[in-house]
Amino acid sequence: MRIRAYYSTAYAPMDVPTLARLSVAAARLQELGLVEFKAPGPFDVARLNGLHSDAYVGAFLNGEEPLASSQGIAWSPAVRDAALAMLGGQLDGVAHALEHGIALNLARGFHHAVRERGSGFCPLNGLALIAHCLPDRRIFVLDCDEHGGNGTEEFAAELPNLFNASIFGTRFGCRGGKRSWAFQVRVKEQGFDDGYMAALKAAEHLVLAHRPDVIVYQAGTDCHHADPKSRVGLRTRDMFRRDLFVFRMARTLQIPLLFVVAGGYQQADQIARLNVNTVYAAHRVFSE
Ligand SMILES: [Zn+2]
Repeated sequence: MRIRAYYSTAYAPMDVPTLARLSVAAARLQELGLVEFKAPGPFDVARLNGLHSDAYVGAFLNGEEPLASSQGIAWSPAVRDAALAMLGGQLDGVAHALEHGIALNLARGFHHAVRERGSGFCPLNGLALIAHCLPDRRIFVLDCDEHGGNGTEEFAAELPNLFNASIFGTRFGCRGGKRSWAFQVRVKEQGFDDGYMAALKAAEHLVLAHRPDVIVYQAGTDCHHADPKSRVGLRTRDMFRRDLFVFRMARTLQIPLLFVVAGGYQQADQIARLNVNTVYAAHRVFSE
């Protein structure tokens, strides 16, 4: 069994280090034969209408500063095209997951982007986009990055079919709110079971309570203990247990799941190793 993974070279422009590292994970997955790659179809920018403000979308598409670079990465046509390609992967990925139960978009979820601008290396919110484009489906975002999903939280307050549970070490403005729940965890102080696993179980209760049609799992790697940004402090084996828990939950509850990789600020090969572990966890659960 090979997992469908959406990816194209447009995702990873080589002159943008935060995006280029996706190519390292893609190469490793290609070698291992764990996934079946597919390039997403072209993304129709009209899908963004009503999600982000017209002023911001116009600025990002056309490179009008300062808004075009508001995410913190200097705008270029390649940066724009990478973001749009990844959004195409989100929509193709969720369609595949709805049909087959599981899919990967080897992209970032862009959880910090808010309606009026980008933020924290996130230009356009690819998690909220799914709820915006599928108004008849209930979308539950389980965000397990080092940083809280403040942008998705803002969108959840507006989109009645979007639910957001964020488990993080660094709050980044994510406090919980309408259809949004925030769990701050420090494994070093609380332990994995009492801290992180307890938060995952609380998120599972929320999934059970809100009965989504799709789970979108953001499998961040910047919460790994060796990451310079990490305050969560997950060891490699903790991260693997996290991934197994999420995939088993979706499989047991028979809720389709799309997963994305998110932040990571270690060496690209170390991030790729953690991304591959997440795919191994998915592979193990969905091959059972
Ligand atoms: Zn992050």
